[in-house]
Amino acid sequence: MAEDFSVPWAPGVRVLYGQAALATRVAELGSRITADYAGRALTVLCVLKGASLFTADLVRAIALPLRLEFLGVASYGSVEDIVDTGLTLRFLLQALVARGCRSVRTCALLDKPSRRVEAVTVDYTGFVVEDRFLVGYGLDHEERWRNLPFVGVLERSP
Ligand code: 5GP
Repeated sequence: MAEDFSVPWAPGVRVLYGQAALATRVAELGSRITADYAGRALTVLCVLKGASLFTADLVRAIALPLRLEFLGVASYGSVEDIVDTGLTLRFLLQALVARGCRSVRTCALLDKPSRRVEAVTVDYTGFVVEDRFLVGYGLDHEERWRNLPFVGVLERSP
């Protein structure tokens, strides 16, 4: 199965979640969000850049009228890509509440609970992952690999 292996142009990246696994999980998250938000006003806020590809797929899996917004945050220095320490998500939640949002739920494709330093709740999680550096499907390493169609572990930097 092609999904078990890396692609020739990214030899240092091992596939963790292939296209089929991602599509299945995103469809499940979309169905849950559709059920939970039926009859309510929904704005999806995508955190750039890492969550961009995930969000593009997720919003198409939500069968409701919604608004789509984008927001940039500088990390290491909601729809999230990865929740790691939780600092980014905590900051975002506080900022949204301070600006008058009455209800905020969080959705992350990937959650690394072992790295958490801030106690944040992720309401919709795609996959719980170990402490590995992941790339692809929007996630980068030094701005590369966002266009890999799968989520992979960066084993060595080519
Ligand atoms: P936190 O504030 O939760 O520590 O950091 C979350 C952010 O760190 C993510 O949105 C992402 O930008 C970055 N990050 C954390 N872990 C990884 C990873 O494994 N791969 C990549 N590409 N980015 C990560």
